[in-house]
Amino acid sequence: MRDFSYLRATSPAAAREAAALPGAMLLAGGTTLVDLAKCGVAEPDTLVDISHLKGLDTIEVGEHGARLGALAKMSQVAGHDGIKSRFPAVSEALWQAASAQIRNMASIGGNLMQRTRCPYFRDPANFSACNKREPGSGCSAIGGVTRGHAVLGTSEACIAMYPGDLAVALVAFDATVHLGERQLSVDDFFLLPGTTPEREHAIQPGEMITAISIPASAAARRSTYLKVRDRQSYEFAAASAAVGIELEADGRTIRDLRVALGGVATKPWRARAVEEALKGKVLEEDAVRRASLLAVEGAVDHGANHYKIELAPRVVARAILKTGAMA
Ligand code: FAD
Ligand code: SF4
Repeated sequence: MRDFSYLRATSPAAAREAAALPGAMLLAGGTTLVDLAKCGVAEPDTLVDISHLKGLDTIEVGEHGARLGALAKMSQVAGHDGIKSRFPAVSEALWQAASAQIRNMASIGGNLMQRTRCPYFRDPANFSACNKREPGSGCSAIGGVTRGHAVLGTSEACIAMYPGDLAVALVAFDATVHLGERQLSVDDFFLLPGTTPEREHAIQPGEMITAISIPASAAARRSTYLKVRDRQSYEFAAASAAVGIELEADGRTIRDLRVALGGVATKPWRARAVEEALKGKVLEEDAVRRASLLAVEGAVDHGANHYKIELAPRVVARAILKTGAMA
């Protein structure tokens, strides 16, 4: 790790001003940034500490939706009664992420900004080719070990998987990221790699996430997050699904359906084709299993990650059937 200066911001405005300086990076819980600095991926000249800023950690939940301050801790949001009752998939996504210690330290703003876990990206000492780290240098993963890499949204430049859980639930329920004055849908906040994999988020220098808002909906109220992984805790998703369902008064016909995928794509992945195939249909197993196959339309594997193309539709189907069976 190389030397850097430390600046304790006195206000959100001061933090944004400092963050606009070349080589400056915001520091919230530090659970991602310190790791990345240790492995030589993040090399900030200045760390702008925002962890103590007042007013950015509030959680408000009402009949119109939720507003989560960017500095609210993952564990606080997960355990909030209003989030558990009105947005269960959001709470479950957070409970299944990382470890208790990390959830107690980590902010939800930092969670959205976490970088990929691609092992080649995180090992500059041994792998110089990584277009995300060093644009134009190539991709060590293509032709390498790809078990954890994406099958959706990839490009010739990068196949790194988006590792987070919270954003998968947020994208399913049309959440918005607040960057001070500017607002973006969570879907637009995350960028596809294309030819510029070094840019993962549509955030500009000097901008800071201040809050995340989620509109209330019947589908969000009846929702779940299903995460399948190599071990039952402290592990990133092999495939995950956030699902929300609103049924008609007959209790069988789907009025609204939200489906988003994690662990298989280069960004949190909304599976609109699955949603459209099932809206207006009776919720029954065969139809759900058939429609869930649409979740991986256009998927491309790189050998060892082929299993994700089979796993993801099963996870989606299980999540839809589980959510449909909820009282
Ligand atoms: P920091 O480390 O402080 O910052 C992370 C990045 O965000 C930095 O680039 C920083 O500059 C930027 N940043 C921070 N706050 C803001 C802001 N308000 N506006 C703009 N930029 C900002 N996550 C999951 O979702 N699921 C998992 O299963 C999971 N497992 C994990 C396992 C391990 C071992 C570890 C270390 C992490 C894991 N994570 C997982 C990621 C974890 O959730 C993130 O590390 C954490 O949420 C980051 O939050 P932070 O406050 O510590 O961010
Ligand atoms: Fe780098 Fe992306 Fe290739 Fe991983 S997949 S080595 S992050 S370019």
